[in-house]
Amino acid sequence: MTAAETEVLDKTARETGMMAGKRGIIFGVANERSLAWHCAKYLYEQGADLAFTYQGEALEKRIMPLAEKVESEFVEMCDLGDDAQIDKVFDKLSKKWDSLDFLVHAVAFANKEDLEGHYVNTTREGFRLALDVSCYTLTAVTNRALPMMKDGGSVITLTYYGAEKVVPHYNVMGVAKAALESSVMYLAADLGEKNVRVNAISAGPVKTLAAMGIAGFRDMLKLVEQKAPMKRNVEADEVGKTALYLASDLSSGVTGEVIHVDCGYSILGM
Ligand code: NAD
Repeated sequence: MTAAETEVLDKTARETGMMAGKRGIIFGVANERSLAWHCAKYLYEQGADLAFTYQGEALEKRIMPLAEKVESEFVEMCDLGDDAQIDKVFDKLSKKWDSLDFLVHAVAFANKEDLEGHYVNTTREGFRLALDVSCYTLTAVTNRALPMMKDGGSVITLTYYGAEKVVPHYNVMGVAKAALESSVMYLAADLGEKNVRVNAISAGPVKTLAAMGIAGFRDMLKLVEQKAPMKRNVEADEVGKTALYLASDLSSGVTGEVIHVDCGYSILGM
């Protein structure tokens, strides 16, 4: 059993919590370290009912015990690179639930060779893949979720400072995150009238499966600890708490924003 499986979640606020009666779908739980999982925990504890998707068969045995912990009754495989799989998931979800209140998109991918060395060496295929999975998928899932967000909703994605400034080795993922942050604004502008809000959390570095694929990731953690105003790295749970704020009514007037949860690192000029 992993630490996450034995970790006890607090169910006491589920009936009266700020997410009681709300339903959401979460894309991007790979294991107990995933930022998506930390979002899921806080949303569950405050009463939300959760649906999950996972990328492929290999992840099934990791996600099932986690989904069980948060009493999820909807867990489906879905490679977000394939529109037909996305359609199938939402078709199934709309048969189970008649409405959806929030969506968490915590998905990104780039080839390992594009996350080391120089950006100038990025291939067309590497660029296409990184932008497709890490940016376009937000638009794809939001488009499908929209008909279910009848009373408005909240869409949340995860981004990183490498969208704004050059971070060594982040390379094509920085370009993809810049496009993702721009997507957040365009989606927010499109959907505001429907009371569907779209925001991004720009998380500081956290040791996850995806992060470990970035060359020099451990050095990033050390640098942040030395330089960030709060002299530490962010905790994955702090990202989860911000997702709760964005999914809930607490952020009812907030859309098109990128909220930095990075112990202040991004405010530094030098
Ligand atoms: P993670 O590896 O736990 O999650 C990444 C997820 O993306 C995995 O669940 C993976 O299966 C999924 N994914 C990749 N390609 C997919 C596809 N084709 N179809 C469906 N799912 C696919 O790592 P994480 O760090 O929790 O990443 C979540 C998000 O947070 C990513 O967008 C990442 O860029 C972002 N982020 C991470 C950090 C960090 O330091 N960990 C910092 C800022 C932003």
